[in-house]
Amino acid sequence: MSQETEDKNIAENEQQGTFREHLATAEGSGKRKWIFAKKPRGKFAKYKDIVSAILLILLFILPFISTPNGNPIFQFDILNRQFYLFGAYFSPSDFYLFAIGLVTTIVFIIVFTVVYGRIFCGWICPQTIFMEHVFRKIEYLIEGDRNKQIRLDNQGWDSEKVRKRLLKWTIFLFISFLISNVLFTYVLGKEEMKKQILAGPSESPSLFIGFLVFVFLFYFVFAWLREQVCTFICPYGRLQGVLIDKDTINITYDFIRGEGTAGRAKWRKNENRKALGKGDCIDCDQCVVVCPTGIDIRNGSQLECINCTACIDACDEVMIKTGLPTGLIRYASENMIENRTGFKFTPRVIAYTLVLTVLVSVCTSLLFVRSNVETKFLKEVGTQFTLEDDVVVDGYQFIFINKTTETKNLNVKVLHPKSGEIFLMGYGTKFTIKSKETLKGNATVKIPQSDLKKTKEEIIIGVFDDKGQKVDEYKTNFIGPSKVKF
Ligand code: SF4
Ligand code: SF4
Repeated sequence: MSQETEDKNIAENEQQGTFREHLATAEGSGKRKWIFAKKPRGKFAKYKDIVSAILLILLFILPFISTPNGNPIFQFDILNRQFYLFGAYFSPSDFYLFAIGLVTTIVFIIVFTVVYGRIFCGWICPQTIFMEHVFRKIEYLIEGDRNKQIRLDNQGWDSEKVRKRLLKWTIFLFISFLISNVLFTYVLGKEEMKKQILAGPSESPSLFIGFLVFVFLFYFVFAWLREQVCTFICPYGRLQGVLIDKDTINITYDFIRGEGTAGRAKWRKNENRKALGKGDCIDCDQCVVVCPTGIDIRNGSQLECINCTACIDACDEVMIKTGLPTGLIRYASENMIENRTGFKFTPRVIAYTLVLTVLVSVCTSLLFVRSNVETKFLKEVGTQFTLEDDVVVDGYQFIFINKTTETKNLNVKVLHPKSGEIFLMGYGTKFTIKSKETLKGNATVKIPQSDLKKTKEEIIIGVFDDKGQKVDEYKTNFIGPSKVKF
């Protein structure tokens, strides 16, 4: 479709108000309408370039950084069920943390979106960052801006088109290959990844096939699927309809200022638009042609909008050229536009922000206060206490999980009641547990009868390292002779 036809269609859709009856990226026949987004230029484009560059650098270097004790900063080894977050080791026994983290993330997403809209989509989402700040930038470099891209697309497969498309697709494929390498390094770890690269595909054919699948998946997503990921596939995008309301801050068109009393109208030099009741929108469609999802922000909030800020920059440029105030499209809620108010920390925003802060703090502290050696003493099923003179003896099964990457020399003692004694069968009171190892076995606990106040007494067993520091403690029940007097 030529640019002229496309622009005519945009204008017709607006006039007829039919934009909700069809997809911005599909023609009436259902055929995909390719989006040739104009290159965004402006204040927000610059800020977003900086944020994207920082996030991309972090993404590419983090899997290669280790802590002083050799732990990777981040590794998600789903194959061996080993995870490193900020250098701390997590095993499947920490699943409860994962579950809490998942619930926190879901609540965080809901609360954050209700107040702040889709800031995540526009500024942090890897799909947007790679699509708008890597792949599309390469496209602009090779094929030029929107008009040149449309011309190239409409021309036949001459030498220019073949050369430019081949170059673009080859670079896209290479970047997809790089992204896959980084993704696999996050899973396998840098050492294992290096080993696999040096050994070649024949060493682990299934791993290599998996790698190729991801290379082509990334290529398919960024070279072909593009904005369809945000408009059709991403579940977060689908949820917008139920998450946002009239107080949610999103990228919004100021329809009161833009439409005036006589509606939007084309720009005419030396015309007093205010006196004529014309709005500040000069109907130039710059906000539409710059949109990577092909929508018209002036139609109100739409779930296709990824809050990329491109239309803010495009409209501000037009406003500056025409001498009108900038901010016709800006971050605002529908109520802020209707009531002509600026951003205010309303009780709702403060309450939701507090909830978010508490959630993140609780989750972060849970990650850091968990014990390095998980301890469990479970009552042996089907066994009963025995009496040795005046001492009650109870049997337990112990489990120790070393959640660090260091070998630990540990010892155990009964902390309450103080007169209690504990013996790990085969170890006594001292034992050594290797990194990431689980130690299981039987233990006996002895407590003098005189120190048992109840039939079922709570006892505390402590685990200490070789410097005498307590690394964990476990509360369990000790069942002795009945204290009920008849
Ligand atoms: S860029 Fe601004 S002035 Fe131009 S059509 Fe969009 S809202 Fe109106
Ligand atoms: S409407 Fe504006 S903010 Fe939303 S996706 Fe399009 S250009 Fe980006």
